[in-house]
Amino acid sequence: MSDVGPTRPAPVVTEDSAVFWDAARAGRLVAQRCRSCGRLHHPPRPMCPACHSIELEAHELSGNGTVYSYALLHYPQNPAFTYPVVAALVDLDEGVRMLSNLVGVEPERVAIGMEVEVTFEPTKDDGVVPLFRPRGQRS
Ligand SMILES: [Zn+2]
Repeated sequence: MSDVGPTRPAPVVTEDSAVFWDAARAGRLVAQRCRSCGRLHHPPRPMCPACHSIELEAHELSGNGTVYSYALLHYPQNPAFTYPVVAALVDLDEGVRMLSNLVGVEPERVAIGMEVEVTFEPTKDDGVVPLFRPRGQRS
């Protein structure tokens, strides 16, 4: 039996976050936008944190942003990942901040303010997660 598929665990999808993960599977990065006040927010939730409206929609993002902060994770190790894992808070150009992983960069070259773009990585169980890599890099 050969197993050359993705090793990254599938995302945990909830009723609130399904809109985000469904978009990722379609190769789109989205944030929730409030139809009442127009603000974007992330992660998805049932109610706008600014005006408490429940009229929310998925808004597609450019996928471009900058590294707000990051941490190199060494432990505990999961065999599905290559260490250190770069965990980063990315400020998207549209004004929302996402926690994700940086890929395609040596950990010692990661810097606050680095320009990054979204890339999509398949996971186990046919999931897809949005990750970020240095902008303009060919994959
Ligand atoms: Zn609102």
